[in-house]
Amino acid sequence: ILSELCTSACSCLFRGCILTTLLSMTTAARTQELFRRADAVCLDVDSTVIREEGIDELAKFCGVGDAVTEMTRNAMGGSVSFQKALSDRLSIIRCSREQVNKLITDHPPQLTPGVKELVEKLHQRSVKVFLVSGGFRCIVEHVASQLNIPLHHVYANRLKFFFNGEYAGFDESQPTAQSGGKGRVISMLKEEYGFGNIVMIGDGATDLEACPPASAFIGFGGNVVRQQVKEKSSWYVTSFGELLKELEKI
Ligand SMILES: [Mg+2]
Repeated sequence: ILSELCTSACSCLFRGCILTTLLSMTTAARTQELFRRADAVCLDVDSTVIREEGIDELAKFCGVGDAVTEMTRNAMGGSVSFQKALSDRLSIIRCSREQVNKLITDHPPQLTPGVKELVEKLHQRSVKVFLVSGGFRCIVEHVASQLNIPLHHVYANRLKFFFNGEYAGFDESQPTAQSGGKGRVISMLKEEYGFGNIVMIGDGATDLEACPPASAFIGFGGNVVRQQVKEKSSWYVTSFGELLKELEKI
């Protein structure tokens, strides 16, 4: 009896395993299909298109790296609103316009390998590419121009400066300044351009939360793996090469 029980338990487990694999395969395949046929692709920037977190780099450059990195880590846990987390960190950094410009010249953001080729390939196929970031427009625009992405395809937060260049806060009215902001940008894009199939790619929880309204989400773990995002992604990749390979299928 024992051995029979064991066999049936094993076969149940085995069948369960196959079923789970089949189901996840179906959803991964569906996400891949949506990606191959996308009208538009929205890319997160920090730790996705570029290797680092822009706000942490800015903080390091302004000499308050440790305090801010700690706060970024807490902010990603989701215990405080996105807007409050941003404003708390910026009130410590208090960067001047000159410091931001110097950061971009001295430590330009590092593109993740393969992202340039991916954007090029998408453009060749007439897919619209957008950068949707909780980071800062002045830095993200620099990234966009390296990737030949038009600046009106950039959605990010705006730092404000006084006439003398001192820090004056950030534009709180931007959708990306609030929790759920990336989803709001995607809804706006669908309405404005009439996209039927829009795919979001990113490493973080705010990227994952943008689907829906995004038609599909692809988790990106090429720079940092966030376990919760990985578990909830129907398709999780660790390099842009995997996405390029997918596009070669048609
Ligand atoms: Mg990110």
